[in-house]
Amino acid sequence: MDKFELVGKSLSEIESFMSDINQSKFRAKQIYNWLYLKSVNNFDDMTDLPLASRELLKEKAVITSVNIKDKQISKDSTIKYLFEFPDGCYAEAVLMRFDNRANLTACISTQIGCPMGCSFCATAKLGFKRNLTAVEIIQQIFLIQADTNLKITNIVYMGQGEPLLNFDNFIDSVNMFREFFQIGARRITVSTCGIIPQINKLADLDFQSTLAISLHAGNQKTREAIMPVAKKYGFDELLSALKNYTDKTGRRVTIEYVLIKGINDSVNDAKELAYAISKLKSNVNLIVYNENEKSDFKRPSKDAVLKFKYILEASGKKVTIRLERGNDIDAACGQLSSKFKKQ
Ligand code: SAH
Repeated sequence: MDKFELVGKSLSEIESFMSDINQSKFRAKQIYNWLYLKSVNNFDDMTDLPLASRELLKEKAVITSVNIKDKQISKDSTIKYLFEFPDGCYAEAVLMRFDNRANLTACISTQIGCPMGCSFCATAKLGFKRNLTAVEIIQQIFLIQADTNLKITNIVYMGQGEPLLNFDNFIDSVNMFREFFQIGARRITVSTCGIIPQINKLADLDFQSTLAISLHAGNQKTREAIMPVAKKYGFDELLSALKNYTDKTGRRVTIEYVLIKGINDSVNDAKELAYAISKLKSNVNLIVYNENEKSDFKRPSKDAVLKFKYILEASGKKVTIRLERGNDIDAACGQLSSKFKKQ
């Protein structure tokens, strides 16, 4: 019989497992706390359980069946994790701390590879293998916490994959983060390349986490040239869906815009973007393109980035420039490209 996998189970599921192995139910709460509040990943450390219970648990249960396969630490102390899932597939996640902030942010993956094919992104070059389950999504956070002994305060769904194409598992994982790990909705951000039907679903669900949109262009033509998804879900239609989302949820969206030299970084591009989103309740997050060996795109000059920012600010938008993390270990945006499987 397969061992019972604990991380990802609710309190009542752990209780019924404990009663199945003739253990008292109140021990379930102790295990639950060890797992989710203390991120303990071995039974010997669960010191308030009797020795016999710990031995029995080792026989009948595993804490998680996902492994940390590799770990790289950047000069800026960002850590990139490579996880191995039970079927031998790999995906990456990144842990980031920003100076002067108490927040500890983890960027997690929702798919093995990615099907979206954005021309500038290294993950896209991998192609798509499969969706991660909700439990596989949350185990990334469990393992990072267990490894570092630190509590993650913020989660961004900005790793490998398109979260909204793995919709149910994505939503289940958000709910698990809230319930098990006590991470508030407002500390969770999901980024999408713009899957309109699913954005509408989020609006209907009154989604209370932050929605970020990889817009990357101020018009259909440029967007379509770099993001194949735009051929299916057009620019104007996407902006209307976002408008509907902000109306229904009352929440601001984040417009992500990766500045790529000569593609979308001109003064005219900035004006066009400012105009396109002028009526949308939104903030803008500019991402300076991270070069990678898998594509020929280049990062823009500092001057171009600042001009772009000023034009948007002059139009009344709040604009931030995303701090670049972990570039030296290929952990920055668009650089996650672990192979699918062990060879
Ligand atoms: N599929 C989702 C989640 C990925 S988030 C989405 O598209 O939003 C990763 C972010 O990094 C996206 O905004 C993506 O467009 C951006 N990105 C991809 N490649 C990049 C690169 N080389 N430099 C900077 N940002 C990049």
